[in-house]
Amino acid sequence: MNDCIFCKIIAGDIPADIIYDDDQTMAFRDINPVAPVHVLVIPKYHYENIADLDKALSGLLIDVACQVAGSEGVAKSGFRLVANSGPDGGQVVPHVHWHVIGGRRLDAAIG
Ligand code: AMP
Repeated sequence: MNDCIFCKIIAGDIPADIIYDDDQTMAFRDINPVAPVHVLVIPKYHYENIADLDKALSGLLIDVACQVAGSEGVAKSGFRLVANSGPDGGQVVPHVHWHVIGGRRLDAAIG
């Protein structure tokens, strides 16, 4: 999608701190981290919403997110996977992404 910021990162048109890259997915550091580890895991094909994904891609993204947690050193200490979806879910960038957040004790509250 032409005006999608994450598609521009995939295309190499804008810079990002990319820590994982394969044929279907990519992971890069969030530009505005809320914790010492804050990485976004995205599909390379543009889908707006996690509800648009098939099971295979959903599973792949979660698998990559867990790999990222391992490579970032938070698999054992703990981390949070968050996928904001749509306006009420607080999604700002309309390209599917999982947030991998860790490296500090997170608030238990949701919402
Ligand atoms: P969400 O509210 O779930 O849509 O989250 C979007 C996330 O994308 C936010 O945490 C932003 O800080 C992050 N973000 C926006 N633009 C960039 C960028 N160019 N590089 C890295 N992260 C970004």
